[in-house]
Amino acid sequence: MTTATGSENDAGARRAELAANLDRVTARLDAALSAAGRPAGDADLLVVTKFFPAADVATLVELGRREFGESREPEASRKVADVVESLPAGLERTAVAFDMIGSVQRKKARSVARWARRVHSVDSPALVEALARAASSALDEGARTAPLGVLLQVSLDEDPARGGAARAALPALADAVRRSPELALQGLMAIAPTHGERSDWMSTLASIREDFVRRHPDATVLSAGMSQDLEAAIEFGSTCVRVGTAILGTRPIP
Ligand SMILES: *Cc1c(COP(=O)(O)O)cnc(C)c1O
Repeated sequence: MTTATGSENDAGARRAELAANLDRVTARLDAALSAAGRPAGDADLLVVTKFFPAADVATLVELGRREFGESREPEASRKVADVVESLPAGLERTAVAFDMIGSVQRKKARSVARWARRVHSVDSPALVEALARAASSALDEGARTAPLGVLLQVSLDEDPARGGAARAALPALADAVRRSPELALQGLMAIAPTHGERSDWMSTLASIREDFVRRHPDATVLSAGMSQDLEAAIEFGSTCVRVGTAILGTRPIP
């Protein structure tokens, strides 16, 4: 008779927990899209795995997820390498995408450009320049095969603590990205402030985005909505929700 070891039991329990949480979140996302009169599948679910181990990401890949968000270096670089190492046979590296959603220090641009599909948190001309240079070397060295995607992070209340550029700074930032062939301007990202009404912030964001897409018709990604506010974000046009806690649980203290 074979008996499962303790760690196999733990892994099985964790897998069941992640699967159940994922079901709940995808049901919330489907319900929010339907309530907004949008088709099923109209928004992507980026699973935010920061602070959680590569083993959780591997389990989420087995459960069918393909897009993940990370926010810190060097944690992200190491984790992506471990996950890529453990991908099931037959699953191409390019089938799984990792996005950088946290603020990027310029000196970390080089490593981020080697693993990230896109960066959600671009908010200064200096960072655009650093990422362009980093993406260019990563392309030359074969560490990436496509331009680095860029979302401009907009600050809704202009509080520097959460990062993001002021609305008025977006046109010049977008032009700087457009001048860099190794970067691809894809849209906007925002984090709703914790004060005030989420739906008021999301409505402001929707109006900023309308203006932005008029100038940049192919930059239609809107990355907004987290565990707490994904419904409001979907109502106001989000095409990518970034969900951590509702899927992985409360983050461990680093
Ligand atoms: C951590 C993080 C998230 C996920 O937040 P949850 O509340 O855990 O869903 C989303 N976006 C950014 C930028 C984050 O840093």
